[in-house]
This record gives sequence, structure tokens and C-alpha cells, in this order.
Amino acid sequence: MTLGIAAPGTDGADAERIFWWRRDIRPGVTAAFTQVSGGNLAFHVGEDDDGVRSHRAALAGAVGVDRVRYMDQEHGDRAAWAEGSGDAPVADALLSRGLPVAVMVADCVPILVVGEFPDGRPALAAVHAGRAGLAAGVVNSAVDALREAGARGLEAWIGPSICGRCYEVPAALRDEIEAKVPGTASTTSWGTPGLDLPAGVESQLDALGVPVHLEAIACTFQETRLFSHRRAPGEGRFAGVVWAHG
Ligand SMILES: [Zn+2]
Repeated sequence: MTLGIAAPGTDGADAERIFWWRRDIRPGVTAAFTQVSGGNLAFHVGEDDDGVRSHRAALAGAVGVDRVRYMDQEHGDRAAWAEGSGDAPVADALLSRGLPVAVMVADCVPILVVGEFPDGRPALAAVHAGRAGLAAGVVNSAVDALREAGARGLEAWIGPSICGRCYEVPAALRDEIEAKVPGTASTTSWGTPGLDLPAGVESQLDALGVPVHLEAIACTFQETRLFSHRRAPGEGRFAGVVWAHG
């Protein structure tokens, strides 16, 4: 539970550059969110593939592994296991029994879920919840899939996303999402209809009985050290990553 201590395998200076927030959340398990200075981690977001590969390699090095597992995100509710899948599976929740799993975002909500299997191995999930995924139930999918596999003692860390004071939407859309995910409706700082996606995620996790940690939250629209699709479309994606080690 110490902030600022490098996990095994990390290089201090590189980790400092790459991570926005990082914490050893349980013995042998670390959760982190990257930042702009860690580079764009998503292919097809306005940068050459070589650049993305080098940023991903640097992140893997800071995590202390050969490869971090990503998913092919589609704003749906599908959960997939990282183990055994060579390529990035089409999913919005990536589950593992210790392998590093990542979710890429730039305003959507990244959620990292951690628990334990009966054999003592960690249960991990990286979840992508934008407006559509939140309403589709991706948070429930991730928690249900981990629990069906036997995971217990789940806790969740919500990472940086656009906040309810900055995320303006048409009134009809706000009402539609509020009907599906109560507690999500908000008002922007300039007085127009908005959505508070992290509040919606929190209410869903509360309903599932999963304790929620909010200390990694920040607003991507206001914080230029994080990528924001609304503020600067096409600049890139940062990642939430959770992994087990030694
Ligand atoms: Zn904001």
C-alpha cells in the first residue's frame, strides 16, 4: 500500500515518465494508469505503428514483462480471458489470473478490478466503460465473469476519465443513459446537460457489492497530462494496467 515504490522489474526513471498513478494494491499486485509522457498506446489513432510499438515496449519494460495484454475494444459488454488468446480479443473487459491486462482510454472510464481465486492466484480485470459500454453493462459482465470463475474479495479502482462537469451531451441522451444507469445524469460547469460516467460506474459497482477506490480519479478534459478525445481528438490513448508479480 505504498505510493512511489517501484514494483519488481521496473526502472525508476522510466516508470516515473510513463505512469500517472501507480500503487501496490495488494501483496504481489500493482495497478497503474499511464499518462501522455508515456506515449500513445493505441494503433489507428493518428500515429505511426512504430511509435505505438515503442511506447508499448516501454510500458511492458516498466511493468517487468515481455508483453502487456490489450483488447480490441468495441464499446460493448463482452468479457474475455487474456490467457491463451494470442491476439487482442474483441472485448471491453480483459480478465486474467495474473497476466498484465490493459484498457485504453481517452475520456472513457478505465476500471481495474482485483480479487483472489481459491487457489490464491490473483483475479484481475481491466475494463473499458464509455457511455455505451456503461449502459450495455460491461462492468457487470467483468464482475460476473470473475465471480463465475471463482474469484472472491473483489475491489475496483476507477481511473481518470472526463468528469460530469465537463461531459456535455444532448438532454435526450442524458435522460436515456440516466434511465439505464441511475446516478449518471449531471450538469456541466456551464449549466448544460451532462453525464457523470465515473458516478455511473461507481453506482454499478456498489450494486454488485464491490468496494470502489477513487484515489486515481482525475478529469481527462481538464488535465493535459492525460489524453482526452474531446479536448484533443486523435492525440492518443493512455492505459490502465493491472498485473501480478513476484
Ligand atoms: Zn472535468
